[in-house]
Amino acid sequence: MAGLSAARHLADAGQSVTVLEARPRIGGRIETDRSAGFAVERGAGWIHGTQGNPLIDMTRRAGLSLRATSYDRGMSLALDATGMKIPPARLEAADAQLMDLLRQVDAQSDSPARQSLAAALVRISHGGVLPPLVAALLRLEITGDLGADPEDLDAGSFDDDAALDGGDHWIVEGYDRIPALLARGLDIRLDEAVVSVEERADGLRVTTNRATHEADQVVVALPLGVLKSGDIVLPEAALGRRRQAMERIGVGTLFKLAVPVTGALPAVDVILPADPALAPWTALYPLRQAPWPALMLVAGGKGGRALEQTSMESAMAAADALLARLQLPRIDRKRNWQMASDWSRDPFARGSYSFPLTGGGAKDFELLAKPQGKRLFFAGEHCLFAHHATVHGAWMSGEAAARDVLAT
Ligand SMILES: Cc1cc2nc3c(=O)[nH]c(=O)nc-3n(C[C@H](O)[C@H](O)[C@H](O)COP(=O)(O)OP(=O)(O)OC[C@H]3O[C@@H](n4cnc5c(N)ncnc54)[C@H](O)[C@@H]3O)c2cc1C
Repeated sequence: MAGLSAARHLADAGQSVTVLEARPRIGGRIETDRSAGFAVERGAGWIHGTQGNPLIDMTRRAGLSLRATSYDRGMSLALDATGMKIPPARLEAADAQLMDLLRQVDAQSDSPARQSLAAALVRISHGGVLPPLVAALLRLEITGDLGADPEDLDAGSFDDDAALDGGDHWIVEGYDRIPALLARGLDIRLDEAVVSVEERADGLRVTTNRATHEADQVVVALPLGVLKSGDIVLPEAALGRRRQAMERIGVGTLFKLAVPVTGALPAVDVILPADPALAPWTALYPLRQAPWPALMLVAGGKGGRALEQTSMESAMAAADALLARLQLPRIDRKRNWQMASDWSRDPFARGSYSFPLTGGGAKDFELLAKPQGKRLFFAGEHCLFAHHATVHGAWMSGEAAARDVLAT
């Protein structure tokens, strides 16, 4: 999205632009699966917020329909470890307790000594253990949202980003319609994996698995996980301080598994497995677009990463065990379909999205967005702290990079 956004803005401004894409498809961490005859999102699922969100205009231009669905706490059903419904009043009280704790973390986190969210919570509760429901809500709110565990998140920065108003929405026809709209008329070379970008006296040389390209300027819109891996050779001058900033930003994992189930599901947007014993699962979403009962199970953080690293059969067994505990309809093995994500194993993603590690924060994201001289520019969800880990953030960062290019 960041690369397409930069290319779109530059091409619209009359520049000659070539997009080099390693995969045989566009979209990156936007990937819609239609193998079962309906749209299921392996990557980004929601448009987070409609107000001031540039994606809304694109959905209108592409004639797409939006469906308002809550991705966390709106129309939800919270179940305990035996599948019993947690009364809304109990849930609200635990939620209020968690919000109060997080407010205290925020108030105490301005000191220069940086600590993780988990450590800050232990300090605030005087070494005490969080009540089970509060601990479960912490996992649902934090690990499910950021793909990261409280032990790794910076206490002072983890929730300093900005949220857009207007609620969460699905794109009924599929999220991949947006990159398809942006790509129209662009010169995009698929299956061209960049291996190096070198500075030459008269410009830049980009080498891929297939060819060599000469360019006056380059926008590097690689995922943070790919940059961190060191797989791509970039000019040393561009890496310098960037390396330290990259060490302070992590790449989280959000594992998604979609399966058919044997019976009707509760008519809610989201089912919350609200007990620490139900980790690592962070949320279950009935797939209302499916012609038969189907469910998307989601797990965040290290537990989600472990599920991505295991076999499909083991992940399915873990999901089925969860459904049994929650007394929900089980996986329908007769219908031979499932869809799972593997972003942490994907060499062109290496994780789901960025988060501030302990000691990291907005300044590190800003540093990653800084151009190197007048030739090398950077974009990606990890380049805009206010909206990191989102599609609209990636779009905005690509637009900013294009502006920087045009200003040279
Ligand atoms: C499971 C999951 C759920 C998510 N849910 C949401 C959500 O509900 N809402 C939301 O707003 N956001 C969500 N996100 C985040 C969102 O998808 C990302 O923030 C955004 O799509 C990232 O865009 P990007 O352009 O920065 O990176 P990418 O989309 O990863 O684009 C980078 C591009 O670089 C290419 N590339 C990699 N290596 C090379 C190479 N060597 N040479 C050439 N090309 C290369 C990749 O193939 C890719 O096309 C989710 C992400 C995941 C993984």
